Amino acid sequence: NGVSAFISIMRGCDNMCSFCVVPFTRGRERSRDPFSILAEAKDLFDRGYKEVCLLGQNVDSYSWKNPETNININFADLLSMVAETDQSLRVRFSTSHPKDITDQVLHAIKKHDNICNYIHLPIQSGNSEVLERMNRTYDRAWYMERIKAIWSIIPDCAISTDIITGFCGETEAQHKDTLSIMEYVKYDLAYMFKYSERPGTLAEKKYADDIPEQVKSKRLNEIIEKQQKHSEHRNKKHLNEVFLVLIEGVSKRSKEHLFGRNDQNKIVIFPKGKHKRGEYVNILVNRCTSATLFGDVVYN
Ligand code: SF4
Repeated sequence: NGVSAFISIMRGCDNMCSFCVVPFTRGRERSRDPFSILAEAKDLFDRGYKEVCLLGQNVDSYSWKNPETNININFADLLSMVAETDQSLRVRFSTSHPKDITDQVLHAIKKHDNICNYIHLPIQSGNSEVLERMNRTYDRAWYMERIKAIWSIIPDCAISTDIITGFCGETEAQHKDTLSIMEYVKYDLAYMFKYSERPGTLAEKKYADDIPEQVKSKRLNEIIEKQQKHSEHRNKKHLNEVFLVLIEGVSKRSKEHLFGRNDQNKIVIFPKGKHKRGEYVNILVNRCTSATLFGDVVYN
């Protein structure tokens, strides 16, 4: 869109989540030279981009050793280095892994105003036995501890997640654990799916895809319904708040309105006035739905 760009910081994945094909299709994890990442961020900024999103299957395991100095650069270091390209360059990242996200990363987000207060932290299931079958390498208690760390270091951080319902052998009680962890976190946003077996995965080899389709659908509907309430609850908390919004373009619903995103990755729609794509504006939020914030530009 000429405003935000993606920068790939690593390839592959060393995790072996049992439902996932990525380890078989993209190979082992390889982290890119941070200086080429910085050069790319600087070049994008010089060409007018206002936001970069650092991309990797598991950004928290980014690791690069300088062959000359032997100094290791981890993801928290990289985030800070990219943020220091320019104060007006927004930095986002995706995807974090609950077993790897460190307090150092959270402190880097807190320290730099231009690193967005938004973390996508896939839970997949709220039940520890299901997580073990998924081979996610964390359990419910670990995940909740990481959420507490986010809340304590970055209190206004938005959190989103991925949820798979109806994974092999998932009981009704285990499904309820997913609903209860959703209740605990109250995610701003969630990507929710029914489990669907992928050929060649560990789950295909080890477990029967034994949850009937109508049970998967019922559980997914319960999850979606809960998430809808939580998204609305989170958005309502933003009423009467002012956010710095980076304008991305004209709203699909009205040519007289623009849309952009705030620091927490929320879509914000407001009257166009004389503003243009790529500008930052302060927006006072006066209305919301579960998906969108609406408001007006405020001038200092
Ligand atoms: S789900 Fe993500 S972390 Fe797990 S194997 Fe696939 S790409 Fe790696």
